[in-house]
Formats: sequence, structure tokens, C-alpha cells
Amino acid sequence: MNKITVFCELNKEKNALSSCSYELITKAYELSKQAQELNNTEFFIEAICCDNVENIENKEKIFSSGANKFVLIENKNIENHNFDVLKDTFLNYYKDNKSDVILFPATAPMRHCAPCITVNLDCGLVADCIDLNFILKDENLMLSATRPTFGSELMATIISKKLPQCATIRPGIFKNKTVKDENGEFIKIQSEIENNKKIKLISNILQNNNDEINIEGAEIILCAGYGLNSANREYFKKLEKIAQITKTQIGCTRKVVDFGIMDSKYQIGLTGSNTKAQLYIGFGVAGAIQHMCSVKNSKKIVAINTDADAEIFNYCDYKIVGDAKKIIDEILTQIEQ
Ligand SMILES: Cc1cc2nc3c(=O)[nH]c(=O)nc-3n(C[C@H](O)[C@H](O)[C@H](O)COP(=O)(O)OP(=O)(O)OC[C@H]3O[C@@H](n4cnc5c(N)ncnc54)[C@H](O)[C@@H]3O)c2cc1C
Repeated sequence: MNKITVFCELNKEKNALSSCSYELITKAYELSKQAQELNNTEFFIEAICCDNVENIENKEKIFSSGANKFVLIENKNIENHNFDVLKDTFLNYYKDNKSDVILFPATAPMRHCAPCITVNLDCGLVADCIDLNFILKDENLMLSATRPTFGSELMATIISKKLPQCATIRPGIFKNKTVKDENGEFIKIQSEIENNKKIKLISNILQNNNDEINIEGAEIILCAGYGLNSANREYFKKLEKIAQITKTQIGCTRKVVDFGIMDSKYQIGLTGSNTKAQLYIGFGVAGAIQHMCSVKNSKKIVAINTDADAEIFNYCDYKIVGDAKKIIDEILTQIEQ
């Protein structure tokens, strides 16, 4: 049987799969449709979650997002940062349940865990993909995985020769959709695999996260580009004020972070967060590929730039050739009245 496996992660707060897991399940379903069109091959979509959890909420969504089967493997020994047990729990199941393709979320834990799994499977892993497709090569279906390369200036399409073909995909790149009914096969497995003591958690230091920043879930993003720069950096503060008053989310480009103007938590792009906002407005943003790859899934893109040939205008729905600082002043005057 041809099969695509989606390695799912748990959102512990919601006791359900993480949003990226749903995104990958839908992508796996779309790949299977592509395979059908290319050479009439059908793929079975299996979603797997290994964690220290007895049951999870909203299994219907796993099936309606595209999965034919959901496997929940409970292992009490899977604790935070214990990727060794996670890896061994998965591999123990996988040895009797092989697959042609495995998709992993490119989150911090999975960036660590996915290569540990693929090295054991003696296969390749294309990391940080931003697109996936099936193509026909010598009449065989192959996964073609696209990712940024050469300092992210170019996109490379990589085809792994060995099965399973594996890829990690950044959260927010693909969209979760309802693609079928809520029916599917659910099985639960108890695993007793223990920590082999190679990795030991010594301490846990919690980073003080600012919960108010929500680039990935924001409806409207006001993005500050370096074009807003001035001697006293007043326009970044003014844009923040607009975001505060209008209850929208401020974001920025990496150049704004690199110059120490805003914190990296606000950065949108390849090395920052993704956005799928209903509305993204770029104020003095050039439109570099490393930024736009994380913006292109926004529903409407508006750009304000003094340069009529700015790259961002190739991506946007509405373009304003003009001074973003003047527009910020005008908006502030309007909303403060
Ligand atoms: C490996 C790698 C990873 C990267 N990751 C990211 C990432 O995650 N996110 C990211 O953003 N970048 C990333 N970059 C950097 C990226 O290549 C660009 O350098 C960056 O996005 C440029 O930021 P900018 O558009 O704010 O600045 P600039 O390139 O300086 O552009 C400023 C723009 O503002 C316009 N402008 C000037 N004055 C005004 C005005 N008064 N009104 C309106 N417009 C004005 C200019 O015409 C120009 O187009 C990465 C680069 C590399 C190599």
C-alpha cells in the first residue's frame, strides 16, 4: 500500500494536535490527489502522535483534514525535551508500518527529532521546506521538496532517492482545510519504551514570552520595514501606536531587527514567523524573498513604498507608491481625532 505518514505534535494546552499537524495532514491529502492525477496512484494518509497523553480532543478534525487513520501512541516516558524516547517510540511502531513519505513539522523539537529518526531509517531529510509536490521520474512518483538555499537567495528543489522520502515543513506554510468527512480509523497503542539515559534533562529555564505577540494568528498585520527609519526612529513608535489603537498586530522585517529597532519576536519571514493574515500592510518593506515567503499566504497584501519598482509590488493586491511616513501621520491624525 502506498502511504504518507504525518508525524503530528500535540498542543498540550488544547490537548489536541498542533495547528501545523493539521496543515501537514491536509497537504498529505493534496499530495495524494496529485498522485492520483499523475499516474492513478492512491496514497493512504496516516497521522501519528506519540506523547504522554491518554486521549486527545477533536479527532474528527484529523480525519476531515485528510487522514484515513490516526494512531495515538501513549508513552508515559515521553517528557519535555526527551527526544530520544519520542524517536524510539515512533521507530518501534514504524518498523512494522512503513511508509513512502514522512512529513514532520519544522518546529524546534522536530528540527531536533526528525533527523534522529531519518538517520535510523537510513534515508534523506529535506529540512525547512516551503513547497511539496509529487512529480513523475522514470514513471516513478517522487516527492519534490522545495526549500531556500544559498543564503536563501534561491529556491532549490530536492528529490530524495531513498524511501521513505522525508521533509520538515515550517508551520503556517500550508493551509489546513476540511477536505473530506469526519470518518477514519483510530487506534491507540501503549508504549513502554524507556529513556536509554543517553540524554538527561538537567534543568528547565522558562523564557519570559510576551503572550501579546501573535504574528501567526493575527487577522491584520502592520509590518514595519527599514524604509520607516529616521534619526529618532519615531515612525516605528507611531506604527506601534496605530497597532495599539486599532487592536492590530505589528510585525517587522529582519533588517529592522538587525538594526536593533524591534525585537526578533516581531520578525516575519524565513527566520521569523509566518503570517496568514486577512490583511497584511507593508510600510517601507522592500519585498525580499526571505520576507515574502512568509507573507504570501495572507489574503490581501497592501504595500506602501516610495520605489515604484520595489519587489513587494509583485506580490501585492494593492500598491501605493508613496511615502509610508506621511501615510502613518495621516492615519494617526484620523484615528486620534
Ligand atoms: C538567510 C537569510 C534569512 C533572512 N530571513 C529574513 C526574514 O526572516 N525576514 C526578513 O524580513 N528578512 C530576512 N532576510 C533579509 C532580507 O533579505 C532583506 O534584507 C530584508 O527583508 C529587507 O528588509 P526591509 O525591506 O525592511 O529593508 P530594505 O531592503 O532596506 O528596504 C526598505 C524599502 O523601503 C523603501 N522606502 C524607503 N523609504 C521609504 C518611505 N519613506 N516610504 C515608503 N517606502 C520607503 C525602499 O524603497 C525599500 O524598498 C534574510 C536574509 C538572509 C540572507
